[in-house]
Amino acid sequence: MINRQSERIRKLQEDVQEFVEKEMMPVESELLKIPFNEAAVVLQEKRSLAKSRGLFVPHLPGSYGGLGLSLLEFASISETLARTPFGHYVLNCQAPDIGNMELLIKHAPEAIKKAYLEPLMQGGIRSCFSMTEPSFAGSNPVSMATTAEFKGDKIIINGHKWFTTAADGASFAIVMAITDPDATAYQRASMVLVPTDTEGFHLKRNIPIMGETGEGYHSHAEIIYENCSVPAGNLIGARGSGFKLAQERLGPGRIHHCMRWVGICERAFDMMCHRAATRSLSDEEKLGHKQTIQNWIAESRVEIDASRMLVLAAAEKIDRFGSREAKNDISGIKFYVANVLMRVLDRALQTHGALGMTDDTLLSFWYRHERGARIYDGPDEVHKSALARSILKGYGLKPK
Ligand SMILES: Cc1cc2nc3c(=O)[nH]c(=O)nc-3n(C[C@H](O)[C@H](O)[C@H](O)COP(=O)(O)OP(=O)(O)OC[C@H]3O[C@@H](n4cnc5c(N)ncnc54)[C@H](O)[C@@H]3O)c2cc1C
Repeated sequence: MINRQSERIRKLQEDVQEFVEKEMMPVESELLKIPFNEAAVVLQEKRSLAKSRGLFVPHLPGSYGGLGLSLLEFASISETLARTPFGHYVLNCQAPDIGNMELLIKHAPEAIKKAYLEPLMQGGIRSCFSMTEPSFAGSNPVSMATTAEFKGDKIIINGHKWFTTAADGASFAIVMAITDPDATAYQRASMVLVPTDTEGFHLKRNIPIMGETGEGYHSHAEIIYENCSVPAGNLIGARGSGFKLAQERLGPGRIHHCMRWVGICERAFDMMCHRAATRSLSDEEKLGHKQTIQNWIAESRVEIDASRMLVLAAAEKIDRFGSREAKNDISGIKFYVANVLMRVLDRALQTHGALGMTDDTLLSFWYRHERGARIYDGPDEVHKSALARSILKGYGLKPK
């Protein structure tokens, strides 16, 4: 698959790699030690540099100022960017903004595109996606209590959301809310754009996660929407199409996440091998002479390579036939690659011993920040079940 890449993509990948290695890796550790809003100043300079090199918003179509990449092509770029913690951010192709850009391009009215999509694409503002609620199982997204009521030329939003990633400092949220309670389960909800300065938008807190509350882009918020009134024109897509749009967004979104994880795995693998080859256990013996470490390296190598092939194959299928056709592949990579990421990070951390626990390497950052991979965008168990049900359907098993 990689051999089929065009000359243009190969060159782009080289440029991105050079940017990652020369511009981002030298500053990454320092940036992680300071609060996000402080780091944002340096990140802004890096964004300007990325723009000047023609690398900014690579995922966008050419007509929107991007590089017009297919999902398969972007996947490879995404892997390279993921080797450094702020890689996607500096090219403005980070979740959840990337998904929101794609959503607004396809489904927002022109006025919304002008007011919100344009500054988002230029990196002038950030956004968030607000769907999960503390009182309902996010794994079953049709269950939610947030409502969006049409009143004249307004929509009034009331509800309680949490885990709205990057809401702190975002300019708007795309909120999933019930607009049509009497419709069938998958047609009850719609997506509404709510500016975060709307009266009644209360960011209650950034939720402390694994000892870190975070701020700005590195945070997950609990939000109360209390009689938030927005123009009816802030409806994204058709009324009742919320779940359809969410599904549409999730296919490519899972490719983005999975390739990011492959990139993180590669960096952790590199660190693990370096440590194994250089850490002396005695005058004659290095860590890498031990068979256990060798097993971890061999297993990790193959698991990462398998992950990449699976993700690229799924991306190609989405490019050619759409997300629906690729739904089994998407479920498969979502749980498989998330677990490879957990194993590779854990092995790399263990190989570093006590050093791996410290914040002197990137491993502890990823270990904390990426545990959520097995939960968000569908927990492992849901994807495994969906894949198995789809397979068994072919054997005649009827749904319960
Ligand atoms: C880091 C992070 C970032 C997030 N960002 C966002 C965001 O930006 N916007 C947003 O709206 N949400 C976000 N979420 C929320 C995420 O989408 C939900 O956590 C996810 O959908 C799971 O829902 P839940 O937490 O309510 O778990 P529940 O639905 O309560 O499930 C709990 C556990 O039960 C098990 N389980 C659930 N269903 C099944 C099943 N069918 N079969 C077997 N076992 C099952 C799984 O092990 C699951 O982990 C984020 C979550 C995390 C961790």
